[in-house]
Amino acid sequence: MSVLVIGSVALDTLTTPAGKAEDTLGGSAVYFGLAAGQLDNVRIVGVVGPDFPIKEKEFLQTRNVNTEGLTIGRGPTFRWEGVYGPDFGDARTIRTELGVFASFEPELPEAYKKTPHVFLANIDPELQLKVLDQVDSPSWIAMDTMNLWIDHKKPSVLEVMKKVDLLFVNASEARQLSGTNDLFRAGRYILKRGPKYVIIKLGANGVMALGGPQPFLLPACPVKKVVDPTGAGDSFAAGMLGFLSGVGGELTFRNITRGICYGAVTASFAISDFGVEALRSLSRKEIDERLAFYLSTNQLDRVKE
Ligand code: AMP
Repeated sequence: MSVLVIGSVALDTLTTPAGKAEDTLGGSAVYFGLAAGQLDNVRIVGVVGPDFPIKEKEFLQTRNVNTEGLTIGRGPTFRWEGVYGPDFGDARTIRTELGVFASFEPELPEAYKKTPHVFLANIDPELQLKVLDQVDSPSWIAMDTMNLWIDHKKPSVLEVMKKVDLLFVNASEARQLSGTNDLFRAGRYILKRGPKYVIIKLGANGVMALGGPQPFLLPACPVKKVVDPTGAGDSFAAGMLGFLSGVGGELTFRNITRGICYGAVTASFAISDFGVEALRSLSRKEIDERLAFYLSTNQLDRVKE
């Protein structure tokens, strides 16, 4: 099957306790495409400027990411600069330059309109809505967002939420959105506003999924060394949704819990190097091998003994 993603395609400048990278390939749709492309076919919708290296667009095509919907606009490519503290927690945004995204009017290629699965990665919620207007009854739609949009465009974020099956947020976004510190209450606030399921990402502490018969919680997949957490959220969504899309699985809570294991694994690859470096050569075989390791670290069956 295939999954369509609309999101940012960016040149990021990143500072983490492990070092710095300037104008490096990034963006929510790129992280998603590179990780999900190993699990299913990805179709990307976005825009870059003429300053975007053409070899990166060609590279995406070699990684099972269809770029017919990635247009070249007038103006600079979207740029984002983020800094991480010693705990590798949430990034502090130093600058966001929308560039070509400020005037972007997404127009889906004809072949994209019937894509069965849709991921609205982090981007202006008004652009997310414009894409939803053009897709033809997908079997599921998932959505991501961030503090910037909740701060400045909350009504539009809520409008998109009404139309999606699943929402990804991190803990601080869940609190910001709902106005409550208690994450279970925040989850209930979200579930009353559209999505059937919500995935609340807890960074190094793992993830929790709500919307099923009972909450589902899972720790993060351990990595030897964290280098750069950028894209962890997008790669998590990629593992989870790429898996679900690839097996043609319905969006049931049971399938979501299976997908979460893939998400935890793909995110663990993303954070082990700067920018998208670790995802450039990621293979399905590596994902499956680490998944087996990850499942064994949890040893959930032993708890019953
Ligand atoms: P994550 O760490 O998973 O939240 O995603 C990081 C990516 O999000 C970076 O590659 C940025 O280019 C991108 N990003 C940061 N701010 C924004 C924004 N306001 N809109 C869209 N993408 C953004």
